[in-house]
Amino acid sequence: MISRAAILALGSLFLFSACGKSKRKAPEVQYFVHGNPLSLVSGTQKSPSFLTPETAQTFNGFHYSGGSSFVERDKLQPPSSWTQVEADNSTEASDTEIASEFDLVPYAFRQESATRWVWGPSAGKGYQFGFSVVDGKLNLTDFAGFPVIGEHYSLKDDGRAFSLLFSTADNASGRILAAFYFAASDTVNPIRNASKDFAFLIDTVKLPWTSNIAVDTCGTYSATVESTIQKSIDAWMVDDAPTATRRPVSHTTRIAYPPFSDLNIHCILPVSNFKLESSYDFYVAGVTIPVYNLASKEMIDSDIMLFTDQRAVAAQLLSGEKSSTLTHELGHFFGLGHEFKRDEAGAALHPSIMGYSQGASIVTSWDFEAIRDLYGESFGPAAP
Ligand SMILES: [Zn+2]
Repeated sequence: MISRAAILALGSLFLFSACGKSKRKAPEVQYFVHGNPLSLVSGTQKSPSFLTPETAQTFNGFHYSGGSSFVERDKLQPPSSWTQVEADNSTEASDTEIASEFDLVPYAFRQESATRWVWGPSAGKGYQFGFSVVDGKLNLTDFAGFPVIGEHYSLKDDGRAFSLLFSTADNASGRILAAFYFAASDTVNPIRNASKDFAFLIDTVKLPWTSNIAVDTCGTYSATVESTIQKSIDAWMVDDAPTATRRPVSHTTRIAYPPFSDLNIHCILPVSNFKLESSYDFYVAGVTIPVYNLASKEMIDSDIMLFTDQRAVAAQLLSGEKSSTLTHELGHFFGLGHEFKRDEAGAALHPSIMGYSQGASIVTSWDFEAIRDLYGESFGPAAP
């Protein structure tokens, strides 16, 4: 149930200042890993660029909607205490939060030469992505001035978002795998806050899936592991106060699958490539990478990685029974944040699978209520 994802994610999600005029920034997450981050995409089905000089302009005006990167480091620093871990991962949800819109930085392509194009902010601050024209396609060549290799290009089926995945390396940081996301800006919905003090991925801001919720298991796994995954999904389908209609959540298994950055496939992906230091192997069990359209205020992608070098994670997956780690990550997948609030005695104020040290190992009434608040209805199995 401990999520490195969130540790860094939430640390960077809340960069907006206390000034009422400032806006929320697109979420950027860095994960520091012990091992080669490129192993994350080995064996996946990578797609070449869909961008061409002829069609590039159609994406002008899309806004930067976030990024995630895996950076190779020899060692992760262990946390000194649960208090520190939970503080680093706090969703900072409060009853007095003032909603402020997201800072939608628009991007545009500009042609610099016969063979070079740049995707960068047309207003405001942002990144510069350099492309060269090869065989009529725009191929990523550099990011923020650093040479990179474009690994995978993904265009969401509805054409309203795309992702760029690339790798690079430098002596200071080691190997890096990074994904950046951009989404259409034409539909700007207002921020909707929760009716209670629920913790969502960006504090109390509601960013639900508005498209079908589809969970894919990516890879080939034993029937026992498949059972664990299905039971962990099912744990979210048994609301103790269900609504009359249910929001379906489908689950399929894909032997072949694209990298996590792909916007059309939403993977649960057991990963065994990262070695974790035994002294703090409780620290990294799984990560969930959500991607949003910050204009229309909806989730457009999410992927879960489970770090099976962590013995507890592997043991849970091989149990054939519900995994509390995966159930927690699925809560993130659906849009829930961390629930760390405690009463004066230090006990969990709202017992939740989304807690850490005081958290529950099952989906609680509070969690189901948060889902109902986010979606307006309970989850249920997809119709066969
Ligand atoms: Zn978490």
